[in-house]
Amino acid sequence: MKIAQSTISHLVIMVLILIMPEGCAGIRPSSPPTISKRAQMHMGTLVTVTALASDKDIGDRAVQVAFDEIKRLEQLLSTWRPDSELSQVNAEAGRRSVQVSRETFELVVRSLEMAQLTHGGFNIALGPAIEAWSVTGRQQIPDGPTLERLKSLVDWTSIQIDKTARTIYLPHKGMRIDVGGVGKGYAADRAVEVMKRAGAEGGVVALSGDVKAFGVLSERSGFPVGIRHPREEGMLIGIIDLHDEAISTAGDYERYFEQDGVRYHHILDPHTLQPARGCQSVTVIAKDGTMADGLDTGIFVLGPEEGMALVERLPGVEAIIIDVKGYLVVSSGIRDRLRAP
Ligand code: ADP
Ligand code: MG
Repeated sequence: MKIAQSTISHLVIMVLILIMPEGCAGIRPSSPPTISKRAQMHMGTLVTVTALASDKDIGDRAVQVAFDEIKRLEQLLSTWRPDSELSQVNAEAGRRSVQVSRETFELVVRSLEMAQLTHGGFNIALGPAIEAWSVTGRQQIPDGPTLERLKSLVDWTSIQIDKTARTIYLPHKGMRIDVGGVGKGYAADRAVEVMKRAGAEGGVVALSGDVKAFGVLSERSGFPVGIRHPREEGMLIGIIDLHDEAISTAGDYERYFEQDGVRYHHILDPHTLQPARGCQSVTVIAKDGTMADGLDTGIFVLGPEEGMALVERLPGVEAIIIDVKGYLVVSSGIRDRLRAP
């Protein structure tokens, strides 16, 4: 495995990926498209949708259908809505299997595949442990016995899926599925699909740190996306031009609390049920947002060495990792694409 290390190191606080304001720099000059752009809050985060189209009405419509699609998926997948399909699966844990829509089923199946790929680093059964930490709520460190009790409830290998009946069964009462680590990337994929169907020639869907770009972009530049420094407010570590692909960042710097000088953040290591300690941020670039989002979380847990080894094995997947000491590690396929801010 080749690991490139630069000297970016120990710095302080920051957030996620940022679409650069000059995000349309690469459009073909021969037929300048119109640009429609709007931002709304969905899935607990700021969602920005940009559409390029030959006609302003088509672009505006494409933006609207993207937001409609994201709202629809939120109703289907969010586990804080008691009426969502996944909430029903969770409510029936230990009792019976629940039939779900094709989309919910597909997302759960893909999530389990990513769990396999990351040796359980990415784990959609972690819900009870995420709840116990409540990093954005109570902000309490759960005690050892509490976490020990939860271990039997977070075993993703015990989730039973029936492909023919399209059902999901959680065999133990108290088990829960939580797709928070992959749902935004999935929503970005689906939003792009409906935008294309609505006639958009290109565009970007950004759900906070989950971004997918598509369409009429020049070979050279694409949509520039800046990757934020995990510790230095307002600083970028580099810029990547996106061409028909997705980028997703998982970091320890957006949702966390500190106690006695220790940072407790929202990405848990399923093996210890403690916040994962190998990285400050993991950015994954892949063809689809579901893969990019699931892998960023899973690789964050695996840590820089095992995580980068996995990236180098997976075709079409690249990563930029900032490890716990602040060292930058870049996968071999993207080194010549990551440019200085
Ligand atoms: P975000 O963009 O919201 O930060 P991430 O892709 O970084 O999303 O995933 C973080 C979310 O995933 C957490 O808020 C939690 O709901 C869930 N999560 C935390 N740890 C894991 C894990 N090891 N595997 C799967 N999901 C996780
Ligand atoms: Mg993720």
